[in-house]
Amino acid sequence: ALGEFVLHYQPLWSLGQDRLVGVEALVRLKQPNLPPLGPAEFIPVLEDIGQIEALGDWVTREACRQARQWLDAGWEFGVMAINLSPVEVARHPVEQRIRSALDESGLPPERIELEITESGLMEQGARADEFLRRLHALGVRIAIDDFGTGYSSLAYLRRFPVNKLKIDRGFISELTTDERNARLVDSILQLGQSLGIEMLAEGVETEAQARHLRSHGCHTIQGYFISPPLPADQLWERYSRVGED
Ligand code: C2E
Ligand code: MG
Ligand code: MG
Repeated sequence: ALGEFVLHYQPLWSLGQDRLVGVEALVRLKQPNLPPLGPAEFIPVLEDIGQIEALGDWVTREACRQARQWLDAGWEFGVMAINLSPVEVARHPVEQRIRSALDESGLPPERIELEITESGLMEQGARADEFLRRLHALGVRIAIDDFGTGYSSLAYLRRFPVNKLKIDRGFISELTTDERNARLVDSILQLGQSLGIEMLAEGVETEAQARHLRSHGCHTIQGYFISPPLPADQLWERYSRVGED
C-alpha cells in the first residue's frame, strides 16, 4: 500500500545568495484519475491506526535515496528536509530509523534536516530536550517547524542547538497588511539572529512579502512565490544546472 505514496519537493530558497539551499520532502498519496491527496488528509488517519511509523520509515528512506541520487549526478541541491510526526516521535525510537536510512544511502548526516513542529516538541514535555539531543547526536540538522504557533517554552532554545526556525506561514500571510503582525515577525527574526539560528519564512506568496523579509534580515524563504512542491523530475529540470554554463 505504501507504493502509492510519492514525495514532492519544495525549494528552500536563499534570497541573499539567490539560489536553492535545500528542499523539503512533502508526502502525497496518489489516486487513480484524481489529484494526489495531501498529508493533512491521511496523516491523522495513519496516526490513529498505528501506521505512521511505516510511512515515516518509507519517507525517510525515499528522501535519502533521492538526495543520494542527486548528489551522485553532480547536483548540489543543499539540504534535504524531512518532517517528523509528533506521534511517531512519541511512540518510536525514531533515531534508529534515521540512522539506518543514512547508512543505507551513504548520505552524510548533515545533509538531512529533521523538521519537528514546535507543538510536537512541546507535547514531549520534559523529554523534549533528550529527544533533540538524541537526534543531534546523529549529526543531522534540526529545524523547528511552524515556529510561533506552539506553546513555546523557548527554554529549548536556551538549552539546545537548534539549527533553524521556520516561521509559520500564518505570520507571513499578513506580513504586509497587519502592522502589529509585522512587528511580531521582526521580533522573531531578531530573536533568531541574536541566538545565531538560521531563520526561514514559510508560505511566502508575494514579492512584497519576500522584500519585507529580506530587508528585515530573513534570507531564506519557502512558498509559492518561489515554487510549489514539485515531483522530483520537475524539480530537477527547473533547478539543477548540471552540465550547463
Ligand atoms: P509543513 O511541514 O509546514 O509544510 C508546509 C506546507 O505548506 C505544505 O503543505 C506545503 O505544500 C504548503 N505550502 C508551501 N508553500 C505554501 C504557500 O506559499 N502558501 C500556502 N498556502 N501553502 C504553502 P502539505 O504538503 O499539504 O503538508 C502539510 C503538512 O503535513 C506539513 O506542514 C507537514 O507538517 C505534514 N507533512 C508533509 N509531509 C510529511 C511527511 O512526509 N511526514 C510527516 N510526518 N508529516 C508530513
Ligand atoms: Mg515542514
Ligand atoms: Mg510548517
